[in-house]
Amino acid sequence: MKNAAGLHTIPRLSTNHRLLLRLLSSQDDLSRRDLAKQMLITPAALTHLTADLLRWKLVKEHGVLNEPHRVGRKKIRLTINAQYKLIISVTIHSKRVQIALTNLLGRVTAQREIALIAQQHSINEYMQQLGHAIMQLTEQQRISAPKILGVGVTIPQPIDEQGLTMAVLHGIWSVPVAVKDLLEREIPYPVYVDYDLYAFMKAHLIFLPLQQYQDILFIEWSDHLEASLIIGGKIYQPAHRDRLSLAHYVVEPSGRPCSCGRRGCLEQYITSSQIIQAMQASSSEIECASSTQLVALLERADQYPEAIDPHYLDIWKDAVYKMAHVVLNVTSIFQPQYIICLGLLFEQNWIYRHVVEALVSEDPNYPIQLFQRSSLRYQRSIISGVSSVTSATLFMA
Ligand SMILES: [Zn+2]
Repeated sequence: MKNAAGLHTIPRLSTNHRLLLRLLSSQDDLSRRDLAKQMLITPAALTHLTADLLRWKLVKEHGVLNEPHRVGRKKIRLTINAQYKLIISVTIHSKRVQIALTNLLGRVTAQREIALIAQQHSINEYMQQLGHAIMQLTEQQRISAPKILGVGVTIPQPIDEQGLTMAVLHGIWSVPVAVKDLLEREIPYPVYVDYDLYAFMKAHLIFLPLQQYQDILFIEWSDHLEASLIIGGKIYQPAHRDRLSLAHYVVEPSGRPCSCGRRGCLEQYITSSQIIQAMQASSSEIECASSTQLVALLERADQYPEAIDPHYLDIWKDAVYKMAHVVLNVTSIFQPQYIICLGLLFEQNWIYRHVVEALVSEDPNYPIQLFQRSSLRYQRSIISGVSSVTSATLFMA
């Protein structure tokens, strides 16, 4: 099906239009004077940009700015017109796919989840089933094709410049797959495909007021280990390889052999599956065989550490200590202004608290206030796909 209907109706946006939209999506109480100041433009230039966006219905005037001591004419607040178009956010997991229909700012109107396992289908069958599920959702909601801005697909594996998935250990496909091209044959909407970590990083630039931070480091700790950087407001993508990776950071010289050929890589010690394996080996009773059980134990440890098998605590503390060392070293190399930690393990209070304690005990001058968990973590899967679409079409150059 070749009819990228949504795309053709978007007006041609300048860099300043995009920047203005991005400021409005990340901070909702900015006066026009603040907007002009942050954009380094004159109030007259801002008036022109605003008039364009109002005419195109991308923004609307809404309510009154809250300025209690102001006398005279009330100021009208400028906000994103979240209903401008709809977005379909698709999150591909190893055994299931989540599909959500949202507005421009990620508010969900309808969603569904389907079981879909890449190994059980040919790639064409997989895309047909996915396309069918997307069409069912939009038909149920009676959404016409031009109302859809795009479909944002996020995948837990990087995408190369040709739009092909790259093989990584935790990926969905071990062969290169042209997800965008294949899915656009099944549905009448433009498709945007992103590596899930990059899409979530874009969400931070769109939805959070992080404009004052030029250099932000992201560290992900779950069943895989990744790091990535925003430098000067852009995602850093090294020219000679697909991405930064924490997985092969050596933490134990001459330690366990790794698939990369080295020994003692971080990936061999502290991924969630490595931690689960170590816990199983330490105890004759199998209390923990899945990430869900690991999360339950960590939640219990946060409340009642005395109720936890001391062997488990030792395994977790060793992992925390290794991660804290890596964070210290990576911080020394990149000197980021802000560090955002993500992923299943950092989401656990017990883990996050102990990493913070380890960082401060290793380096009393560590700027710990800059080491934060993402405030978007609970919406990650949906807003990542939304950000894939809106960053390409509206908010980013
Ligand atoms: Zn390795």
